[in-house]
Amino acid sequence: MKTKKFILPEQEIPTAWYNILAEMKNKPLPMKNPKTGQPMKEEDLYPLFSRAASHQEMNDTDAWIEIPEEVREMYKIWRPTPLVRATGLERALDTPAHIYFKNESVSPVGSHKLNSAIAQAYYCKQEGVTNITTETGAGQWGAALSMAAKHFGLELAVYMVKVSYNQKPYRRSIMETYGAEVIASPSMSTRAGKDIITKNPTYQGSLGTAISEAVELAMTTPNCKYVLGSVLNHVALHQTVIGLEAEKQMQMAGEYPDVVIGCFGGGSNFSGISFPFLRHNLAGNAETRFIAAEPESCPKLTRGKLCYDYGDEAGYTPLIPMYSLGHNFAPANIHAGGLRYHGAGSIISCLKHDGLIEAMDIPQLETFNAATLFARAEGIIPAPESSHAIASAIRCALQAREEGRRQVILFNLSGHGLIDMSAYDSYFAGDLNNYQVPDSEIARNTAPLQSL
Ligand SMILES: *Cc1c(COP(=O)(O)O)cnc(C)c1O
Repeated sequence: MKTKKFILPEQEIPTAWYNILAEMKNKPLPMKNPKTGQPMKEEDLYPLFSRAASHQEMNDTDAWIEIPEEVREMYKIWRPTPLVRATGLERALDTPAHIYFKNESVSPVGSHKLNSAIAQAYYCKQEGVTNITTETGAGQWGAALSMAAKHFGLELAVYMVKVSYNQKPYRRSIMETYGAEVIASPSMSTRAGKDIITKNPTYQGSLGTAISEAVELAMTTPNCKYVLGSVLNHVALHQTVIGLEAEKQMQMAGEYPDVVIGCFGGGSNFSGISFPFLRHNLAGNAETRFIAAEPESCPKLTRGKLCYDYGDEAGYTPLIPMYSLGHNFAPANIHAGGLRYHGAGSIISCLKHDGLIEAMDIPQLETFNAATLFARAEGIIPAPESSHAIASAIRCALQAREEGRRQVILFNLSGHGLIDMSAYDSYFAGDLNNYQVPDSEIARNTAPLQSL
């Protein structure tokens, strides 16, 4: 029988997101207020986030949360996204495994980030907020939020990590096209930025620093909220639209995944593809493996410490119970800018600790080998971030070949790499390196943080 390559998208976009918090037997510890050491309450988050996002962040009772109609309308621009059988990649690897990928790169901004950006901008608008602020690494989150902010008539200021601001100028152009203001971080426009520039004038920035700047702006500007693109529970919630669609599409293909893979920065796309399938593991009806693929140069899940840590460099955010490399960790300037974050988010950290998910760390050169193979086999040039998931899927498919095992592998293609071609140029020129983080650096960075 000839295999069907494209699994036709379901006509119906899901009407509710899946909230895994409600169904976890072991729940994550609460976030803590760094000043009082007390668990954060929903109201404590109101100064920073919209009320709806604050409520979703803490909601551990409702397994299904309705997607507002205005958000579903926007989703219709590009959702449902295709589920694709990677027949070209299977042939190239000569593997008995069946490889599928969910193609989130078809969104107007080229990544999965729009799924949460639209929801968060919508809630801000609903609540009468006029200005929003955020950080961005490689620029995908900033691009997504710029589009969403414009749609809902919000003013947006984006702090973009300096190394990416210079490496990826077109992402800045995209944000400006949608009407956002983009500031290279660290900047002199905030106290957090000034402090770090004073200490280290050539610092190329990190997501942790950019978050400090955005949070500071939100806290000091009237009617301004801060919006985050990863790590937090409500962001993971919005991304479950990916896995819920994939679940129906896998059904149409007559298969169920043995392995589900997502690349890992703060956890939003990995959570999005995984949680809807993981719910069947939690219910005892499946034994799927879940693999978070992170960079060797930023190995929070494989080598970080489970502790309470700040979400940002300056220590403005609540303390989050998570696997962390320490909030002062300065990752190497790898091209997968969206994966250069020090921590892992509390749901993922709890699932990892309980052995319900696994993590794999992957060297930069292996990710570009995988990306090139994938582009030539499947025709899509993947984002450097997504290439971590591809490399991990390839490892699994090669193992299946060795063991002569038919295995169904599903990975999330979180974005395309068409605006990351300078990274590919460096790879072809032989200018890319692997960066292993020394144990001593991780130990030094996490020493002040108490293990959980
Ligand atoms: C931001 C981004 C990531 C990493 O973020 P997560 O929250 O871990 O998903 C991965 N891939 C792409 C394309 C991104 O834009």
